[in-house]
Amino acid sequence: MSSSLGLRYETFTLATPPLPRVVPDGIFDAFGWCESDRLTFRRGAAFDATTPTTSQNPAGMAFVMLSECSFLPRELARMHVGDLASADEWALAPYGIDDATDELFKERARPRDCLCLAARNLDGLVWGLHDWCHFHNHGPFDSPAWTEVQCDASALVWLWLNRDVLGLSADEWERRRAQLLGVSRERFVGEGLVLDESFYDGARLRGLL
Ligand SMILES: [Zn+2]
Repeated sequence: MSSSLGLRYETFTLATPPLPRVVPDGIFDAFGWCESDRLTFRRGAAFDATTPTTSQNPAGMAFVMLSECSFLPRELARMHVGDLASADEWALAPYGIDDATDELFKERARPRDCLCLAARNLDGLVWGLHDWCHFHNHGPFDSPAWTEVQCDASALVWLWLNRDVLGLSADEWERRRAQLLGVSRERFVGEGLVLDESFYDGARLRGLL
């Protein structure tokens, strides 16, 4: 627990190994342009594991900047994660996830040299892992629902891989899997498509490791 300067969080190093591409050809134009390997994660002291994961942006989550990253839109980290960041730390602006996906690729900047994740709840961690996939892959973004399948799969696999270090139960993982499946189903409906739900099958996901 970091307690200096009134900060209240634990720091973890999460394993985020590269996964195979599960979605069709053409979804990404530079899949795995940077191999993901790990993510530094600041977990709030009073971590909430119950707020469900929906299509809404998570509260109390931000990517805190580890270096200047002047090519990324930024806001003071404390605006978003309070005591999970010091007063002079910056964070990727919450509206800047898509910008970061483009700019990290353009600059060939390794995401883990630029950003760590701070979150007050499991919902924030799930979306942070989802975004971590975006940051290591680049796509034309003309098939958003399909793009998100790859990012959801990565988030779920990485969550499973780190469940012991995070103290996450199999039931908690299963609930997030079902919630992300629900979000994905809505995306496909929104694009007039039908989701093949086997992409979210638990055994299939765990088999990607
Ligand atoms: Zn996404």
